[in-house]
Amino acid sequence: MDIGAWLSSLGFGLPAGASAARAVLEAQGLTRPGKQRLSTEKLHRAQSALLEALCLHCPSPECEAFAKASGKPPVRSSLKTTCRRCGGSDNRRAETEFLEACQRAGARKVVIVGGSPAVREELERGLGGKLELRMIDGTERRTADRARADLEWADLVLLWGGTELHHKVSMQYSSAPPELKWKVVHETKRGVAGLLAAGVEHFRRR
Ligand SMILES: [Zn+2]
Repeated sequence: MDIGAWLSSLGFGLPAGASAARAVLEAQGLTRPGKQRLSTEKLHRAQSALLEALCLHCPSPECEAFAKASGKPPVRSSLKTTCRRCGGSDNRRAETEFLEACQRAGARKVVIVGGSPAVREELERGLGGKLELRMIDGTERRTADRARADLEWADLVLLWGGTELHHKVSMQYSSAPPELKWKVVHETKRGVAGLLAAGVEHFRRR
């Protein structure tokens, strides 16, 4: 296996990343300076050694900061998908930023009103283990009492306009009295990343 091509396939394709990776492999006796090829039986061990020794990150400033704080030398990846923090996915990055913002704000209970069933499932997968989530179907009637209970329970209510959200449902939340209304963020961007960014912005302003 050609070492350079193999390193590129892992994200060590930029000159600085390639030389940092080679230095790790040489230090562990997996290759020698000037060698061009690596035997396939060493690949698995070599990959573990690299992931253990270095922290790959994409160009996003948050991911770079994450890598710098990792305790391992940060390496700018040539492949966004190998970023240790976000895996190159806007949604995953948005989820991580949202979780970090919730943690800083001491928020654990989040109500999300609206969105399609598939997207609600995706959010459940991404956030469910780390936050208490209440997903409200925006197409089903919600009584004033239940909406009030959601508002009292929640640290944050994300009203996801521009999605499957009926006016009658969203009104139950947007017309909350001031002592509860401050928890409500009304976002009309369609994407998951936009919704979660609005939540991050809410905590930043608080
Ligand atoms: Zn990243």
